[in-house]
Amino acid sequence: MQMSAYNQEQIEAIGLTRNHLGTRSSSELASLRRRIRNYLQFRKDTARFLQYHFSEVCTHKCYQDRHSACCGREGITTFFADVVINALVSSDEEIDRIVQVLQVPNVGLKCVYLGESGCLWKVKPIVCEMFLCKDASKTVFDKAPNAGRRWQRLRWREKRYTWPDRPVLFDDLETVFIRAGYASNLMYFHNSPGLLKVKSQAMRNGKLGLSKPRK
Ligand code: SF4
Ligand code: SF4
Repeated sequence: MQMSAYNQEQIEAIGLTRNHLGTRSSSELASLRRRIRNYLQFRKDTARFLQYHFSEVCTHKCYQDRHSACCGREGITTFFADVVINALVSSDEEIDRIVQVLQVPNVGLKCVYLGESGCLWKVKPIVCEMFLCKDASKTVFDKAPNAGRRWQRLRWREKRYTWPDRPVLFDDLETVFIRAGYASNLMYFHNSPGLLKVKSQAMRNGKLGLSKPRK
């Protein structure tokens, strides 16, 4: 069976990320890791919040053998920056494992990245992290409105990294790779009409300049 277009573009993005990171000096890699440090803190805070408020309701509603219905979809959206961030915090073996599952046709109706012990990504894609179904949100936030307000604050924090009406990490990381001569279909901050519109609007408003991304 032929590899799906989705698996193909995921493999390409992982491959070129590895290629580029493999040619960087240790000080350049350290600089990139510093660049994602605040984002990783945001992800830790979000994971802690979800664990505290949602693990019970998600276990009750969905988990069977540690597989959540959230991961029962094929072709989850991954941004190029998701791939870069995950590569920066993963071992070679962890990335090899991801590449292996992408090379096998996905015959099930679940996400290709769902392994026996859960998601194979060390830092899962941001779309997955920030998804809460209506049922679970209602159950939790109706009982604890304060948790709802905290969730809104986390969503605002997410935008600081992913919503390009100002310079954001996810756009910046793509730019680093584009300037090094790479291109990927996952570079949505440089090829999605919707995100390009947000950026050009921000440029017109003077919120987004043409400043050089940090390496
Ligand atoms: S957020 Fe909803 S769909 Fe996802 S695991 Fe929790 S209950 Fe299930
Ligand atoms: S990438 Fe991971 S968290 Fe996201 S849907 Fe797939 S298995 Fe689930």
